[in-house]
Amino acid sequence: RAAIANFRARQTGRRYLFYAGGLDTECTHRLELMGELRRAIEGEELRLFCQPKVEIRSGRVSGVEALVRWDHPRLGLIDPGAFIGLAESAGLITPLTYWVLRAALREGYAWHAAGLAVPLAVNLSPHDLRDPLLLDHVSDALATWGAAPDWVAFEITEGALMDDPIGARDRLVALKKLGVELSIDDFGTGYSSLAYLQKLPIDAIKIDQSFVSGMASSEDSSVIVRSTIDMAHNLGLRVVAEGVETRTIAERLGQLGCEAAQGYYISRPMPVAQYPAWSAAFSWAQ
Ligand code: C2E
Ligand code: MG
Ligand code: MG
Ligand code: MG
Repeated sequence: RAAIANFRARQTGRRYLFYAGGLDTECTHRLELMGELRRAIEGEELRLFCQPKVEIRSGRVSGVEALVRWDHPRLGLIDPGAFIGLAESAGLITPLTYWVLRAALREGYAWHAAGLAVPLAVNLSPHDLRDPLLLDHVSDALATWGAAPDWVAFEITEGALMDDPIGARDRLVALKKLGVELSIDDFGTGYSSLAYLQKLPIDAIKIDQSFVSGMASSEDSSVIVRSTIDMAHNLGLRVVAEGVETRTIAERLGQLGCEAAQGYYISRPMPVAQYPAWSAAFSWAQ
């Protein structure tokens, strides 16, 4: 709701005042925005951005996360936080996810042709995991581009698993059989235990950025990060830290044995077209 209010507030003042307040008007806003989002997905308004994940020891880029943006004709670039929730509740997340998957594979095709072999990780929503056609879509998309399974990867939040733990596990097992890499996103913000995760065919966890950025000032966050890394390793999982904003935190994570880091210290999300030049110029001065 806050996101929609925000979105509206950025439109012309007069319309905003006219619509402000009341449940009915809120419904009107949602309907209007949903219509616009539907057009955005069908039309050419979505943009693919990406953000690298870097191995802390070697500085090698181990993967790149696909992050969607909406290039709204009047409002400019909108971050996913303002429309993913809406897409989920409007039944638009499935076409959005497939748009991202296709866009990621199109880019992956170009990258592989240029000798840049790096997997692009697509974020899956809870609804995607319940979609019985997910597997077919993924294998069709791979086939269309003649892509090997390691061209893509998927990130799934704990929340997406907890809705339907058994069904989610079956779907992940099927995805894993295709050969794609799977990570648990925003780890630590949900209620899944590492014991449950052990039953899933996952390769890595991504420690949520709230704990990672908290390491700078809070002893509690450092303790959580350290014990999460240790437990994940005991279960044979790799660890990626998200939201790494400083060199100090990157170094600390390296000392704790965390395999990879992602965050503004390395790079902000960038338009996918900029990645080849970025990766050519990147060096890890640890
Ligand atoms: P996420 O998957 O956890 O992605 C990480 C978010 O943290 C990204 O925000 C990224 O820009 C931001 N971030 C990365 N490094 C830093 C840092 O060092 N500091 C800070 N403060 N933030 C950092 P973004 O791109 O706005 O995406 C927000 C969320 O929207 C994502 O969280 C993901 O859950 C969702 N999302 C993005 N793209 C997609 C998509 O294609 N499909 C789905 N289902 N969800 C998406
Ligand atoms: Mg993610
Ligand atoms: Mg995340
Ligand atoms: Mg997060």
